[in-house]
Amino acid sequence: MNILHPRSTLHALSPMAIGTPEVESLTSYFCRLAYSHGMTAQKLADWVLDYFDSAVCERYGWHQRSFSSQSIESEQWAAWLSELTGIEGLDHLTLAPWRDLVGMPGLAPRSDRWCPCCLADDKAKGADPYLRLSWEVAPVTVCVRHKVELCSKCPHCEQTNVRNRAAIVVPGYCTACGGFLGDPYTKPATPEALWVARQVGLMLQALPKVTAEARTPLLETVIQRMADGRAATFAKRYGFSKSGVWHWVNKGGLPSLKAWLTIALHGGISLERLFAGDIDDWIVPLEPTQMALPLPASPRAGIRSVTLDWDAIRASLQAMVLAPEPVALHEACVQLGVSRKQLYLRANGEARALADRYRRHKAHATTKREETVRMHIGEVLDERLSAGYDGLSARDLWVAGVNEGAPSVPNIFSHIKAVIESRRS
Ligand SMILES: [Zn+2]
Ligand SMILES: [Zn+2]
Repeated sequence: MNILHPRSTLHALSPMAIGTPEVESLTSYFCRLAYSHGMTAQKLADWVLDYFDSAVCERYGWHQRSFSSQSIESEQWAAWLSELTGIEGLDHLTLAPWRDLVGMPGLAPRSDRWCPCCLADDKAKGADPYLRLSWEVAPVTVCVRHKVELCSKCPHCEQTNVRNRAAIVVPGYCTACGGFLGDPYTKPATPEALWVARQVGLMLQALPKVTAEARTPLLETVIQRMADGRAATFAKRYGFSKSGVWHWVNKGGLPSLKAWLTIALHGGISLERLFAGDIDDWIVPLEPTQMALPLPASPRAGIRSVTLDWDAIRASLQAMVLAPEPVALHEACVQLGVSRKQLYLRANGEARALADRYRRHKAHATTKREETVRMHIGEVLDERLSAGYDGLSARDLWVAGVNEGAPSVPNIFSHIKAVIESRRS
């Protein structure tokens, strides 16, 4: 048996277009996963919550849960689905990786949008139509590939929010009338809107490298390069509020995506580069009104992000899988200083192998304990019978010290019953 590849609990469905601007959203992935199991999305959501012992609230539709956003909930769903499918990195299908960089306000769209041409292309290629993560980003209002505006109204029944707000969803089809959402019904995109969509697309294709700790130094460098380090000038020049900028630098405030886009536009740098901390060679273009003064060197040149060494973590996990004593996953998390979520998202095979081995070890240990307890019950029963009694009680076992090991065997009565029956037959 190959210990590094335990079978996955749910189908190991591949996410669409990962590592590209057209990456699939987790909402879409979840719908396709439910479909491939012949389940409704609602059923699958309830099943997953039940599997992980989370409370299931009856009146709560699965689509009211946050799957693709920046929230902790989205990250949790990504980790759960990575654990169940064995497909790591499903948080790439959410906005959660940007949680420490981009503020919430203005990020979530008010209604569900899609590019009809993208859906029509998917269908023409004979592929499953899927929903793009970029459609979940409010400032994105157009499709870069097709240069058209995103739609939010079904071309057949003219209803809105019909993309995935139902128990049964087939991505690309209206949840109200069943019509295909890819039927053409488009307006051309403006160059400004295309620029924004292109920036966000590039942002989505790679995970950010700037961590929460490196964010303030990054913002300080931005202000240094774009306004000579003067926050008030920076705010005035680019249309930010002075208190807002002060908050970013001094109180850990997060610029909104719109604010980051303003910085990118006027700074002549892509969002992707900003969020990768790749700013050593960044030169702010001189605007016509500015005099050609040489820019001062940044006091914080080269923002290094603190990233975990996943090759080393994987190697440690592999060693733990092969260690003589099985290691519990939570124990591995403590030793390596990473969360269970991160392990399933970044070192999926190793995490599942470790968990699987521990589970089998535990199951084996339980069987052994039960065998021992039954043997002891048998001994006490025989003693009682030879002393003239016609049975035994749990108290007799307690007096005899049966089942004192930790943890004790649950359901002791069922074992007593089984032993008595085996003596009778
Ligand atoms: Zn498109
Ligand atoms: Zn419709």
